[in-house]
Amino acid sequence: MPPLDASSAPADAVSRPAALAYIPISAEEAAAIRAGRPDAYGAAPERVIAEGGPAPCRCCLRNIEPGEPMLILAHRPFPALDPYAETGPIFLHAEPCAPHDPTVPATGICRVNKMLVKGYLANDRIHYGTGRIVHPDDLPEAAAELLSDPRTAYLHVRSATNNCYQFRIERA
Ligand SMILES: [Zn+2]
Repeated sequence: MPPLDASSAPADAVSRPAALAYIPISAEEAAAIRAGRPDAYGAAPERVIAEGGPAPCRCCLRNIEPGEPMLILAHRPFPALDPYAETGPIFLHAEPCAPHDPTVPATGICRVNKMLVKGYLANDRIHYGTGRIVHPDDLPEAAAELLSDPRTAYLHVRSATNNCYQFRIERA
């Protein structure tokens, strides 16, 4: 049996459209927040009862339904503080929920808004020129196009009207 090496990969593997991963905040981070970890500003998350209206949970990427307890907290979806590390409000189910499956396009979240999609470089700074506003149904196609540029390391998706961070998209 010949040794396996890179040349044994199917020739069409590189020509298919890149698969995407729709990444919520991690289950570990959600658990830490629910256990009382301070938010990005060092404050305790606010615990309230959802009253209705759009309230996307950033763990399961589903809407938090009226009557469900939820947390409101400041979130910084970047690994370190630098001038590009925007911090803002997010919602989270107060009780444990099943994290979103990254292989499923997260086009059901925040459908009352269009989405702001923005590319970042590997150093977590904006890849200028990549930002665009898309309808949720058009997100997978727009994301694939933006990530076809090898300089773009990942995308952030935000509400186009409220600028709230929703989730991250990477190459799968
Ligand atoms: Zn949830």
